[in-house]
Amino acid sequence: MEAATVEEQLNEIKNNLATVQQRIVDACIKVGREPSSVRLLPVTKTVSAERLRIAYTAGCHEMGENKVQEAREKSEVLGDLNIQWSIIGHLQTNKVKYITRFAHEFQALDSLKVAAELDKRLQAAGRGMDVYVQVNSSGEASKFGLPPEAVEDFVKQLPNYSSLQVKGLMTLAIFSTDLDRVRACFVRMRDLRDRLRQNAPAGLSFDELSMGMSGDYELAIEEGATVVRVGQAIFGKRPLPDSHYWPGFG
Ligand SMILES: *Cc1c(COP(=O)(O)O)cnc(C)c1O
Repeated sequence: MEAATVEEQLNEIKNNLATVQQRIVDACIKVGREPSSVRLLPVTKTVSAERLRIAYTAGCHEMGENKVQEAREKSEVLGDLNIQWSIIGHLQTNKVKYITRFAHEFQALDSLKVAAELDKRLQAAGRGMDVYVQVNSSGEASKFGLPPEAVEDFVKQLPNYSSLQVKGLMTLAIFSTDLDRVRACFVRMRDLRDRLRQNAPAGLSFDELSMGMSGDYELAIEEGATVVRVGQAIFGKRPLPDSHYWPGFG
């Protein structure tokens, strides 16, 4: 098979994007939600910078990456484009300094050590960052994120880090073909978000719920997702199973 030309890749990505966007609209209509209340965050891990340049032309101006090193390299190669980078994967404290240079938001906050380091670096740079608290909604040991019952105490500490603009919660649902179990994760998140909205410390908002990926974003929207993180449905299947990209997964 010959490699796809730039034009073929552009058309493919445009078509995939249009399909995902239409399915988002349909899922919203199904449950009486406003389609504009859902943000599509294209997830670009393992997709080459060359292909992302084409994706940008197709309309992807936000890109989510789960590994700092990969995100950083792409942000440099694509530095001439106006891309908003979102870090959606677990972050070690010693990597925090890299993300404050290029990332617009961080969706996987689950430790106060990282919060403190991030705040310190952001203060030094004179900027803020949107953050989401990652919750382990499935209870699987392999997943990052706080257990749901620990979230309320955790967020009480966040006003100490004034450069973090807390927007809401992020989760990965259980990977299962049993849709009831997947839906249960999303419902758990919505309930938690609703509780936080009532009791959140002043200044923090919990309006956003980042949940849903290529396999389950419509279900997530039915249960209240405001951000869906979609990779493979836009860029095609990743060459290796998820256990390769997410240690402990699969
Ligand atoms: C890879 C990834 C996604 C997207 O998964 P797809 O199956 O490609 O849609 C979403 N969220 C996180 C945290 C990811 O690492």
